[in-house]
Amino acid sequence: MTRTNRGDPLTELHAEIRRCRRCLEAGFPIVPRPIFSGPAPARIMVVGQAPGKNEVRTGRPFDGPAGRRLFSWLGWAGFDEGEFRATEYITAITKCYPGKKGSRGDRVPTAAERKLCAPFLARELELVDPEIIVPVGRIAISRFLGKIGLDDAVGEVHERDGRLILPLPHPSGANLWLNRPESKELLKAALELLSELQNQ
Ligand code: SF4
Repeated sequence: MTRTNRGDPLTELHAEIRRCRRCLEAGFPIVPRPIFSGPAPARIMVVGQAPGKNEVRTGRPFDGPAGRRLFSWLGWAGFDEGEFRATEYITAITKCYPGKKGSRGDRVPTAAERKLCAPFLARELELVDPEIIVPVGRIAISRFLGKIGLDDAVGEVHERDGRLILPLPHPSGANLWLNRPESKELLKAALELLSELQNQ
């Protein structure tokens, strides 16, 4: 879903991503329905790990229970979900649903899949040109900040290549890190920083 017109560079990139079968050709059992949304340029780019099955069904990023939690956090920082979805860009490290891993929930995309999809994220960054990147979860955070623990990543604004990086934990209910009182304080600090940046 995008607000751009047919023929512009972002629409062309989206069409190219939709045609992509690299992971299937490499033998990974993904669902080849890439998910992303938003216009270019946008001030904020949210980067998740990979879509889930709810997102595949609706075609919208962060559209399941984890997405509802993420948007409740963003609401706390002063963002309206509808407006945010229309004006900011949302994507993921890998654009296609990786599928289930046995009965233990969704499969985490492998390093090989992340590498296959990486050129698309690089081109999205170029076209969307966000001032603020919000990587959500460990895998997305490591794409921008390298090897770093959540305790050091969340609650701070980092700067890389002229962009502000404001990491958030993954909003999955299974995220044990989030259940610690000190983690809740770091998340609160991150959302306060995002709110301040939004109002600048
Ligand atoms: S996850 Fe990325 S590289 Fe893999 S098939 Fe989908 S769009 Fe292509």
